[in-house]
Amino acid sequence: MRAAAGAIAADADLLTRLDAAIGDGDHGVNLNRGFTAVVAALEKTPPDTVADVLIKAGTTLMSRVGGASGPIYGSALRAAGKALPPTAEVQPADLAAALHAGLEAVRKLGGAAPGDKTMVDAYGPAADAFEQAVAGGAGLTGAAAAAARAAAAGAGATTPMQARKGRASYLGERSIGHQDPGATSTALIFQALADVS
Ligand code: ADP
Ligand code: MG
Ligand code: MG
Repeated sequence: MRAAAGAIAADADLLTRLDAAIGDGDHGVNLNRGFTAVVAALEKTPPDTVADVLIKAGTTLMSRVGGASGPIYGSALRAAGKALPPTAEVQPADLAAALHAGLEAVRKLGGAAPGDKTMVDAYGPAADAFEQAVAGGAGLTGAAAAAARAAAAGAGATTPMQARKGRASYLGERSIGHQDPGATSTALIFQALADVS
């Protein structure tokens, strides 16, 4: 979470610029505020389990970030946490299942399908790549690296898409030609996971 907060802070201007092009220009500010609050909450009362880290992070994002991305990222983290065993360390296969539980929560809450130009287009490929890497015998390091690569490719692939969910969908065809801000922040978060794995 600290690494994710650092990555979001470092690229907050980029996220805001991307959101200014096809949304309302607050994505970097939203997430920077949210992840700063997440780190503060975790440092104040450090949880004993990975599950509780994710649940606390999700709850914090939900309460501190307005707009679409707070509830969506918040519910993803909470669902991922709830899918984990209550232990201080988790196995890569547990994390693979948790990532998919988080993705399911995103799709349930936001209703976005692959190709709708949202964070799902980065998160989906990342969760799949993580799971496939684990199934192929990779540990956390290899699986997180594969997920980060897939998330970055997925975020890049949103550029030619027309948005069908979120604010960008109001632009219709004018949303084409811009990378989705939420898919971009998802790629940053998976890269942060890879960096510390
Ligand atoms: P807002 O659009 O409310 O200002 P943000 O700018 O923080 O919220 O977040 C925008 C991002 O949220 C988008 O780039 C997109 O990736 C994501 N998003 C918006 N609506 C949905 C949805 N229904 N499902 C999944 N992701 C969504
Ligand atoms: Mg916005
Ligand atoms: Mg907004």
